[in-house]
Amino acid sequence: SGVTLPETAPTALDVLHSVFGFESFRGEQQAIVDQVIAGGDAVVLMPTGGGKSLCYQVPSLVRDGTGIVISPLIALMQDQVDALLAVGVRAAFLNSTQDAVERDRVERAYLAGELDLLYVAPERLSSESTKRFLANGKIALFAIDEAHCVSQWGHDFRPDYLALGELVERWPNVPRIALTATATDATHREITDRLHLGNAAHFVASFDRPNIQYRIVPKNEPRKQLVEFLTKEGAGQAGIVYALSRNTVEKTAAHLQANGINALPYHAGLDASLRQRTQSRFLREDGIVIVATIAFGMGIDKPDVRFVAHIDLPKSVEGYYQETGRAGRDGEPSVAWLTYGLQDVVQQRRMIDESPGDLPHRRRMSAHLDAMLALCETVECRRTNLLSYFGQPSEPCGNCDTCLDPPEVWDGTVPAQKLLSTVVRLKRERNQEFGAGHLIDILRGKTTPRTTQWKHEALATWGIGQDLSEQQWRGVIRQLLAKRLLATRGEYGTLGLTEDSASVLSGSRSVPMRTEPERRSSVSKARR
Ligand code: ADP
Ligand code: ZN
Repeated sequence: SGVTLPETAPTALDVLHSVFGFESFRGEQQAIVDQVIAGGDAVVLMPTGGGKSLCYQVPSLVRDGTGIVISPLIALMQDQVDALLAVGVRAAFLNSTQDAVERDRVERAYLAGELDLLYVAPERLSSESTKRFLANGKIALFAIDEAHCVSQWGHDFRPDYLALGELVERWPNVPRIALTATATDATHREITDRLHLGNAAHFVASFDRPNIQYRIVPKNEPRKQLVEFLTKEGAGQAGIVYALSRNTVEKTAAHLQANGINALPYHAGLDASLRQRTQSRFLREDGIVIVATIAFGMGIDKPDVRFVAHIDLPKSVEGYYQETGRAGRDGEPSVAWLTYGLQDVVQQRRMIDESPGDLPHRRRMSAHLDAMLALCETVECRRTNLLSYFGQPSEPCGNCDTCLDPPEVWDGTVPAQKLLSTVVRLKRERNQEFGAGHLIDILRGKTTPRTTQWKHEALATWGIGQDLSEQQWRGVIRQLLAKRLLATRGEYGTLGLTEDSASVLSGSRSVPMRTEPERRSSVSKARR
């Protein structure tokens, strides 16, 4: 190794002290490092910020040869390598961003045994020439980072990862360590099977991030709500705002700037050098708010991100957990804030219906969305819901919106029946389907050019829902959609019945609902 270490082979602890300057290992790091140094395989499930990198960096320095790190995050390899070079570790990467001269230099250093760590993009390892090249040097271990990318059930599948299962055939005696911050049982099993890690030791850390306060609020005027949240609680703090589309990213960033917030847009459609600049400003300057699509954040190590806000509903609980996990890596109080509304459900169901994938794929996306909706609509602790999704039982946390300000539950059966019977009548009597807005107009007896045109004032359910405000009706519809008691259809997202609707109409099923706060006072400040 290139750093100053004792004459005899250094121990893991020597490396931790003298190279990285840390006092002690955290959590299961020591056990993981020992396993790999001894030549065994490991599967590591640890939340973002848990300290996965040291689990393969330390063994790479202790063992003879070069640690080969397979990472899909090409944009971040430079940063990771720079950080290692800065502490005297001989690190390099091979990816498509390099020119031939640079590549040649790295390859020669590897073959000469002058590298402790070599980062490689996954697509390289599916090529025979890369494998032949690697076989000419000495490999200390293989680290497969972001290992959930091998899972077709997950939200981040990369076909190149499937080929990584073959590493064991070529290098049966080189230890392999697979790492991920995704922890569902299904993903865990797939990583183990597909990467042929049948003999590995498994290390599953707790996924709780107690310093993150989870909050999910109904969406009324998202930009206004966001500005309010940022100015009240995030003032001058670094944070990330996630949106689903580039267009929303651009508009939201401009809106925040107009409100005096130091916001920068980030998405895959922006020029690579601008993205690079934005990312390094976020890392180096104080109090920058990045408004981004999910393209931003994977692998970014900024310890003092104080909040992560979502202004669109994430597509899965895994995605939500990973994105919110970028807050508070330093352990200080941080907030995960999500605003979500009826339109999110309608839009995402439509995206799934129209997705080009096959039926199993659409079912999977649908199951992901259902789990996310259940988290949004739960009247119990958000953290308990989140952790149980990852197979980890827990007590109510006292640091999420439902614990701090328990939502009231009301019996929404009668409004649900009113709404569903309006849908039934329109269908049966007139063969018509409508979206939420028009149905609410009918229920509230609000005459519009469309209600007059269709003579909907004559319907038996006209005006029977005046006891609820328009916003409360939107909440009812959203919750019925989330519970699959109502479905959206077609291009326009019109509303129709599901198999389960009948049980509500017949009165055999009641429908408890979360009270929609018209304007719930903001929850007390983030706590530890
Ligand atoms: P992950 O990859 O799991 O998200 P990292 O490996 O990036 O996490 O580690 C997160 C942060 O914790 C980094 O800043 C890292 O330097 C720090 N860290 C990791 N292990 C230790 C340790 N044993 N002692 C002190 N700091 C640590
Ligand atoms: Zn809680």
